[in-house]
Amino acid sequence: MAAKEPSVESGPSSSPMQGAGSEEQEQSAIRQYPDTLPEAAEIDPERQRSAQEYTRLRHRLMLIDLGLAALFLLVLLGTKLSIGLRDALATTGAWQPIAHWAPLHIGLYFCLLLIVYQVLDAPLSYYSGYVLPHRYRLSHQSLASWLADQTKGLVLGLLFELAAVEFLYLLLAVQPTLWWLWAAIALLLVSVVLANLAPVLILPLFYKLTPLNDEELSQRLLALAERANTRVRGVFTMNMSRKTSTANAALMGLGNTRRIVVGDTLLGAYTPDEIEVVLAHELGHHVHHDIWKLIITQAILGLGGLYLVNLGLHWAVETRHFYLALTDVAAMPLIALALGLFGLITMPLGNSFSRLVERQADEYALQTTRQPDAFISAMTRLANQNLAELEPGPIVEFLLYDHPAIGKRLKHAERFKLKSRIAD
Ligand SMILES: [Zn+2]
Repeated sequence: MAAKEPSVESGPSSSPMQGAGSEEQEQSAIRQYPDTLPEAAEIDPERQRSAQEYTRLRHRLMLIDLGLAALFLLVLLGTKLSIGLRDALATTGAWQPIAHWAPLHIGLYFCLLLIVYQVLDAPLSYYSGYVLPHRYRLSHQSLASWLADQTKGLVLGLLFELAAVEFLYLLLAVQPTLWWLWAAIALLLVSVVLANLAPVLILPLFYKLTPLNDEELSQRLLALAERANTRVRGVFTMNMSRKTSTANAALMGLGNTRRIVVGDTLLGAYTPDEIEVVLAHELGHHVHHDIWKLIITQAILGLGGLYLVNLGLHWAVETRHFYLALTDVAAMPLIALALGLFGLITMPLGNSFSRLVERQADEYALQTTRQPDAFISAMTRLANQNLAELEPGPIVEFLLYDHPAIGKRLKHAERFKLKSRIAD
C-alpha cells in the first residue's frame, strides 16, 4: 500500500513490478560510448531545487493515497456496506467445495471491492504516476504505453491477490488456529519462487532485457567477480530509455536466474570507471546474499503481521460477534486494514535494514574497486539524473528511504578516500 522512495539506483530487487513499464523495441545491447565522455560530475543546484520540490509533492500524494485507502476500508467497516455486500452476494456462498470455504463468494466480494477502489484511486494514480514525472521530465512515456503498463500491472496484481485471498480463506476454513503460520510459510515459498521467476517472466512484460555485449565492462566485471571468488551468471541491459530518463541498476533473480541488470540510461551516460563501481555495488549484494536476507526479513515481518491479524480476527468474531465466523467475507476489510497498518508501522524497520544492506554494498564497491572518485561522480550523476535529494530530513529518511540518502553515500566515499590516503 505505502509507496516507497524510488530508490536512486542499485538495489537487490525482490519486487520486480514496482515502476515497471512496457513496449518492446529492438535495441542493441552494445553500449554506445558517447563521442566525448561525460564531463566531471558536479551537483547541479537547479536540479537539487527541483528534487526538493518533486520529493515534497510525492510525499504529499503518498499521504493522500494512504488516507484514501484507510478511509475506504473504515467506511466499509463502520457502515453496513461490507455486511450488505456479503449478504447481496450470499447466493454464491452456497458452493463450498470444502466446508466453510466458498471460493465464488470470496472472489466476487474481493474483485468488486478492488475494482471500486481502483476507480476511486485512478485520478491520484494518473497524477502521481503520469503527470508529475512528465512535469519534471523524468518520464517521456506516451499515455497509451503508460496505460498499457498500468493495465498489465493491475491484471497481474489482481491475479496474485485473488489467489492469495482465496488461499487465506481456505486456511481460515481448515486451520482456524494456525492459519497465520501456514500463511507465513506460504508467503516465504511464494517470495522465493517469484524472486526466481521475476527476471524471466515478469520484468520482460514491461522491459526488454538483453545480455550486455560490452567487452571492456565484461572484463572488468569478471575481474571483480574473480577477486570475490564468485561467478556472475550474467549482466543484462534493460531498455529503460524507452520510457524514462532516470537510471537504475539492480541484482535480480535467484538461483539459475540470478543476474545484474543495468538500465541503458546508465550505460550511455557514465564513464567505464563509474559503471564498474555500480556493478561492484551489485556484486556486493550478491556476495552478501542480500536477496535472501530481504526475503527472510519480509517473511518474518509477514509472520508478525499475520499473527496480529489472527488475534484481531478472533477477537472481532468470538468476543465482539461483529462477524458470523472467521471465514466471513465481510471481515475482509478488517484483515486488509490490520495488515496495512502493520505494514506501515514496520516499514521504517524494513527500510532501516535495507539502508544497512545498501551501505555494506557501497563499502564493498569501494573496497573492491578502490575508486572512490568514480563512486562519488557516479552518485553525483545519479542525484542529478534521478532528481534525488542529497539531504532529506532525517525523519523522512528514517521512515521512507530504503537506500541511504545520496549525501550520506558521498560522505561515505569521502571518508574511504581519506582513510586509504592515510593508509598509503
Ligand atoms: Zn544496492
